[in-house]
Amino acid sequence: MRLKVEGLEAGYGKAQVLFGVDLEVGEGEMVALLGANGAGKTTTLRALSGLVRPWRGQLLLDGLDLRPLSPARRARLGLGHVPEGRQLFPLMTVEENLRLGAAFLAPGREKEGLERAYALFPRLGERWGQLAGTLSGGEQQMLAIARALMGFPRILLVDEPSLGLSPRLAEEVLLALVQVAREGTGVLLVEQNVALSLEVAGRAYVLEGGRVVLEGPAPLLREDPRVREAYLSL
Ligand code: ATP
Repeated sequence: MRLKVEGLEAGYGKAQVLFGVDLEVGEGEMVALLGANGAGKTTTLRALSGLVRPWRGQLLLDGLDLRPLSPARRARLGLGHVPEGRQLFPLMTVEENLRLGAAFLAPGREKEGLERAYALFPRLGERWGQLAGTLSGGEQQMLAIARALMGFPRILLVDEPSLGLSPRLAEEVLLALVQVAREGTGVLLVEQNVALSLEVAGRAYVLEGGRVVLEGPAPLLREDPRVREAYLSL
């Protein structure tokens, strides 16, 4: 397994949010982390990228313990994070935003990264000189993902990419992530859109109150009565 989380406990101040989360993401796998508001999905991603300090548990990337490492070091080792809210630089162009994502790379790889970004999201190629702040919501989400990919991550953590997007654009963005996984990057996708996530992911975990309450192959979870009732309103 490329990414392995074992017994992760974390919280803010004295408030515990995660109570022993176990999950894994393999090479080229697309895995969804699902659950209601406040279940602890974002906190799990933040613990992985180093923005929240775990209280207990193991975080391993290709067997390497991530806990002592700074967020920058984790990024350099191949952990990409597309945070909630995208966090682009609105007064910089599409291409300038992308180049920032390549800050840690050897110069030769920047060109390769740009080509890959524009192949994955042709709309970004058409708008390479446009200010990021003037892109549509869907295009900004594409740019946030493309920027994280500029570091050629082994694992990409993506927080709520479909938030605020039309169903058609949400699907377009998630299908691009499927492509990213096919090319070998493990994708851990946090989503509130359970129906769409279970169509595109290979496996999924359902978090409730900071605990994994269900997990398995996406097609099986789609048929699970608990998932259908609680998350698919069927
Ligand atoms: P959402 O989809 O709403 O982001 P989530 O499953 O990602 O939900 P988290 O964002 O991980 O949930 O939040 C889990 C719990 O931690 C919530 O009760 C939230 O209020 C709390 N929390 C999140 N961030 C902080 C913070 N910076 N300080 C204090 N509490 C926080």
